[in-house]
Amino acid sequence: MDTKRNPHRTLVLGGGISGLLAAWHLHARGIEAEVWEASESPGGWAQTLSWPGPAGESGFLERGPQALRVSRASALDRLLRDLNLDLRPSSPKGPRWMGKDGRRQPSPATFAGLLRVPGLGLGGLARMLLEPFMPIGSGAEETLRDFFVRRLGDGFTRELLPALAASALAAPPERIGLEMLPRLRRLEDRGGLLIGGLRTGLERTRLPVGGTGALARVLTAQLGCVQISRPARVLEPLPGGRWRVHGNGVASDAEVMVLALPSRPAADLLKAVAPEAARILEAIPRLDLRVWHSRHVMVKGWERGIGLLIHPPEGRGLLGAVSFASEDPRGVPGLLQLRTYVGGAYPVEPSLKAWPGVFGELRRWLPELPDPLQVREELCPAAFPLLEPGHGARVARVLKELPANLHWIGAERFGPGIPDLAEGIEAWARNVTFQ
Ligand SMILES: Cc1cc2nc3c(=O)[nH]c(=O)nc-3n(C[C@H](O)[C@H](O)[C@H](O)COP(=O)(O)OP(=O)(O)OC[C@H]3O[C@@H](n4cnc5c(N)ncnc54)[C@H](O)[C@@H]3O)c2cc1C
Repeated sequence: MDTKRNPHRTLVLGGGISGLLAAWHLHARGIEAEVWEASESPGGWAQTLSWPGPAGESGFLERGPQALRVSRASALDRLLRDLNLDLRPSSPKGPRWMGKDGRRQPSPATFAGLLRVPGLGLGGLARMLLEPFMPIGSGAEETLRDFFVRRLGDGFTRELLPALAASALAAPPERIGLEMLPRLRRLEDRGGLLIGGLRTGLERTRLPVGGTGALARVLTAQLGCVQISRPARVLEPLPGGRWRVHGNGVASDAEVMVLALPSRPAADLLKAVAPEAARILEAIPRLDLRVWHSRHVMVKGWERGIGLLIHPPEGRGLLGAVSFASEDPRGVPGLLQLRTYVGGAYPVEPSLKAWPGVFGELRRWLPELPDPLQVREELCPAAFPLLEPGHGARVARVLKELPANLHWIGAERFGPGIPDLAEGIEAWARNVTFQ
């Protein structure tokens, strides 16, 4: 075995966005950090993959986020500026729908659409308008459902929230703890959804040139310390509070080890050195998502991109679909590129486990959709953590159980959205002290 033991001040295990951001902020503090990434390319879920068109034309798909939601003066905003990343606006402006009561309804994202949401009624709408006057929560841990009942009322929570939560977080609002959307708590701390939103500035959707994967590519290039094909297998404590990590035939020592890993691989490494932390991390549910990418002849009227949310369980496991606008450089000119989500925390009807069933269900909501010219399935096993109510206490227990100089960051700690990771990891790197 080649025991190449270069002493590094800090070793970050995991080269997804979390690990890259950790190394970026540590470097900014003058702390040397190297990143070990198990796969052949950094970025984790946030990668833009090549998917040539039917005649071999250049084309791409996103493994994870299709764009970045950036609010003014946020950590993600600061990061994008520091990286000098070339960004363009990305908010498809074509039709938006919600599938509910067996029919396609106009999107509730507009006032006219809201007025037509079945079951909401004028009473539900009036209650939503009272949101700025609702008292601020006690800070007690609550579900996403309870939060929205409190702020926007029963009508919104019953008729709209399930489709929104399914499309964004792939789980029902009654199972989601508020820790999964830290921005909501921040908005409430600043006066509520409307007032807090006005104070913090509205979110804008931005697309880096080259796709959202450009974020990881630029971070990797600027860091210059990311080792690929370097899976961490075993952690070994050394005298003096130092650590050694063993990979495939390689070992490396560090004064500080940072686990920037999803809960399961983090638990595997922690089992021998912090068994209680490993047990807690292992118990955090992760949601499997199936994502289908398809290309079709463009439908007239859909050139500016479409969006479909489905009110579960009406999609029988299909959660929604979204397309690129036709000028999006990731697509193939003249073709509609659709991305369809299935599964998450919802049961999937057996017929929807293969494309013909998924396409049949899509057609029920989008009857104009022509047969596909190309289809590609991207399985996303353990794509999202499900942060259930009470998650904050779990995080606190994990942190308490970690031995000195061993740190843990990532979606289970800061929330699964890239803006949440950017916020959490920036603050972590600013405050972390090394013994
Ligand atoms: C389909 C989908 C859509 C999404 N949409 C959005 C969205 O619209 N907006 C948004 O903000 N977020 C979105 N997300 C979530 C976001 O992409 C992720 O939360 C974020 O990328 C997680 O980054 P991470 O670094 O914490 O974890 P990961 O991306 O999981 O990265 C972990 C890395 O660790 C590596 N690794 C694992 N084990 C080891 C080991 N033993 N040793 C070394 N390396 C190891 C892995 O190979 C991986 O590269 C989406 C995710 C998916 C899957």
